[in-house]
Amino acid sequence: MVTAALSLRRTVRASAVLLAALALASVVWLGAFQGGPSSLGLEHAAASLLWLALFGHRVALRAQAIETEGRGARLDLELGVLLLVASHALVQLMGGLEGPLYPVIYIVVAFLASFARKPMGHVLVALALAIEAPIWFMTEEHTSARPFALHGVFIVFFGVLNMMFTRVEIARVRKHSIKALDEDKAKVREESRMFRLVAPASGRAHDEERLFQSSVEEVHHALYHVLHLLHRSLDLHTCVLLMLDERGERLRIVELVTNADEIAEGPFAAGEGALGAVVRRQTTTNLEHIRPNYKGLPYYADGAPIQAFIGVPVREGDQVRGVLCGDRLADRPFSAREEEIFETAIRQVLRALENERVFVQLERGKREQSILFSASQMLGAALNEAAVIDAGLEASQQIAPYDFAAITLYDADSKRHSVRKAVGVHADEFQGLNFRDNNSLTAMAVKNHHYLPYRGDFDPRQQTVYTRRENLRGMDSLLILPLIVREDAIGTLALAARRRDAFGDSVRPALQVLANQLAVSLSNAKAVARLEEMATTDGLTGCLNKRSFLDELERRVRSAERFGRKLSLIVTDIDHFKSVNDTYGHATGDVVIRELGQILMRVKRETDLVARFGGEEFCVLCEETDTEGAILLAERVREELGETVFQTENGKLQVRASLGVATFPTHAKTPEGLFDVTDKALYAAKHGGRNQVVAA
Ligand code: GH3
Ligand code: MG
Ligand code: MG
Repeated sequence: MVTAALSLRRTVRASAVLLAALALASVVWLGAFQGGPSSLGLEHAAASLLWLALFGHRVALRAQAIETEGRGARLDLELGVLLLVASHALVQLMGGLEGPLYPVIYIVVAFLASFARKPMGHVLVALALAIEAPIWFMTEEHTSARPFALHGVFIVFFGVLNMMFTRVEIARVRKHSIKALDEDKAKVREESRMFRLVAPASGRAHDEERLFQSSVEEVHHALYHVLHLLHRSLDLHTCVLLMLDERGERLRIVELVTNADEIAEGPFAAGEGALGAVVRRQTTTNLEHIRPNYKGLPYYADGAPIQAFIGVPVREGDQVRGVLCGDRLADRPFSAREEEIFETAIRQVLRALENERVFVQLERGKREQSILFSASQMLGAALNEAAVIDAGLEASQQIAPYDFAAITLYDADSKRHSVRKAVGVHADEFQGLNFRDNNSLTAMAVKNHHYLPYRGDFDPRQQTVYTRRENLRGMDSLLILPLIVREDAIGTLALAARRRDAFGDSVRPALQVLANQLAVSLSNAKAVARLEEMATTDGLTGCLNKRSFLDELERRVRSAERFGRKLSLIVTDIDHFKSVNDTYGHATGDVVIRELGQILMRVKRETDLVARFGGEEFCVLCEETDTEGAILLAERVREELGETVFQTENGKLQVRASLGVATFPTHAKTPEGLFDVTDKALYAAKHGGRNQVVAA
């Protein structure tokens, strides 16, 4: 009952304003305002005051904009109903629904339809009709429904029309501002190129854009300062700096201080008029006694009003980058001293550009260093080959976003390359690919110890990444870096992207540093694996390692043979383990492997041997055990592992395993043979749907 009472209270409170509005509407329905302005009395004043209080309070709430979504719509509804009621009171006061003031209702509906939140616009149009109907049929006692229907049609018409207009207008404004934003970005890119701040962006696009934007602003600031000073101190009409675009074909106004009312925006062809002369001859042009309406200065579209002009080339090395111009209304030629001042100003301009270039380079360098630093930490922490490869691919993505990447290793003895891991578009086609030393870019990069292709463009008709049959497609940029340790190339890191110029000069050096670190880490991982092989136990699990297990197997088969005893072998392999690594990371994968090792050690008998055979595969060798006994043991292992829940950063994880079982001498007579049949049984378990034990 308490809950019911509370919810009733909540509902009443939520609809209090609407109820009050309804009360006010009934005042209108009762015809309280029908007497005209002269009949207004105290009760009308009271109703108006109540209305004003409600309306004022609601408007204040809406203005604070503290409401949540749902409450905002309710506010609109309340305000709308209050407005409708007030307008009907007014209409009633001035002669009723057929009186001269009725169109006010249309205006109010149009207003509400435009400004109310989405669903409320429709609701309010409907409510406008609902409020009017009782007035028409009850208060004013009309019998004909046709004029009312006509009002209804108009109300709906005004409502819908306004809603449509508003939606279209909003869409238009949105489109417009998106376009303006894009244009701004393009301008920043263009100017950063014009100022030769850096080569076109290719790394982390977003950061670069921000960096360029702040640098371009900085340059403008410095330039404006210089021009402003010239303009003031030399009594110029216009002082303008124009710079050549990348191809040297057009001049653009970069900064300008002028008293003129109208200046053409440009860009202007670089070869024409007085400016063209400065660019072509690379010398200062100083003009005096210029006749009225002179057309040689393109930034005055309607002819120049000036009589003296000076244009000084902006030179960097032996390249002209632009022109600094000044002109005067008075026929007072520019003196040699003034020319010198212009030259000084240009040195100032160039210094501002150079400063920003250095700044951009430094910023870039800093960013690169921090990425490489974290990459080297990641690589340092990775202990086995798979983890090193993952870390390398991840770090490359940070330096230069790619759509496809792969790492190959080269075996100098067999002269074969193999793809160890491929990620991204079409990656599946290359996974595990193994090919001989051919004419592919990969093989060439390994042979020449040099990255390929030279320009970074990729054309699959001309170039082969791995083999001609399975070539990469749909990419416009490619970079294959050799992985070099001391004098040897041990493989490659290949990156490809759909966009052009993805791996240009701005990112390649950093990628090369990364490739070198990757190579060293890979060879370390290999060394660790070799060391582990030489020891008797496996570093991760503490079980026997493969080599010592094989020795032991040999001895135990011989002794079983001599004493006529049975010997069973169980091979386990975790199901879909690759996706565990991919989803939860290698560290978690290792935890799972270690846990399986412990389960095996726990359930085996004293005399049984457990070995980690590699990756996530284990072997259990059970003395004096027949197939049935081994199956029992295998089932227990399968169940225990399946019931283990691993807590990881990405939530709970459970894994299953498949197991193969075979017995000596029932299924095989030699150690190798025993191994083979057990492996085949495991294979059958995998193909039979996994998570099961299969005996030979
Ligand atoms: P399947 O069900 O067919 O067995 O699928 P799977 O994904 O388990 O395939 P497979 O057994 O061939 O994959 C073994 C994977 O184990 C490949 C490799 O990424 C991973 N792996 C190998 N050694 C280690 C290791 O030491 N630690 C970790 N975390 N993963 C390893
Ligand atoms: Mg396996
Ligand atoms: Mg597996």
